[in-house]
Amino acid sequence: MLRALLLAPPGAGKGTQGELLAAERGVPHMATGDMLRRHVAEGTDIGTRARAYMEKGELVPDEIVNQLVGEAIAELDPAGGFVLDGFPRTLEQAQLAYDWGQANNRTFNAVVSLVVPEAELVRRMLERGARDGRTDDTEETVHRRQMVYDESTKPLLDFYRERGILVEVDGVGTVEEVADRIRAAIDSVSTAE
Ligand code: ADP
Repeated sequence: MLRALLLAPPGAGKGTQGELLAAERGVPHMATGDMLRRHVAEGTDIGTRARAYMEKGELVPDEIVNQLVGEAIAELDPAGGFVLDGFPRTLEQAQLAYDWGQANNRTFNAVVSLVVPEAELVRRMLERGARDGRTDDTEETVHRRQMVYDESTKPLLDFYRERGILVEVDGVGTVEEVADRIRAAIDSVSTAE
């Protein structure tokens, strides 16, 4: 049963690949960014509290994210797999996810790091901002989000490398090429239990 995390800088294609992978394996795809954007659009309490952070390209505080993820986890099939994208994103969140996984016998069995050069990331995000109107895909915010990734999220690579479940995948290529690499990488690391 696949319990995967996609870990990559903004613009690397986590969302696209996460959705494909989840559909292929028949497990739910949980993307905290999408969930937060839905809350913002619906004007919920979580959305109201999260909005300003997202628009600035800052991380939403753990207290809000933990509430969001807690609600989503409660709806998951307790014996099933999942593809997570966007959570955990800080070492504190990673520790929380690990403790929860240990307690429930459901730690990740594969963590996929998508590797894309920064200039390509920035190019993709500005293109997406112009196309889809994502309010955090502006020139200034894009750079801030890369910095936040380097500072807060990159350290998670070592956290998972030490646990032997990290695979690094070249994220430059067509959607299908990258998806093929992800499949191969996951098969190399995850046991099918
Ligand atoms: P990207 O990876 O391109 O930044 P996401 O959709 O994953 O896009 O996230 C968008 C925004 O949502 C982030 O910039 C951040 O403000 C917020 N966010 C998403 N997941 C988390 C998280 N786990 N912790 C804190 N903030 C988060």
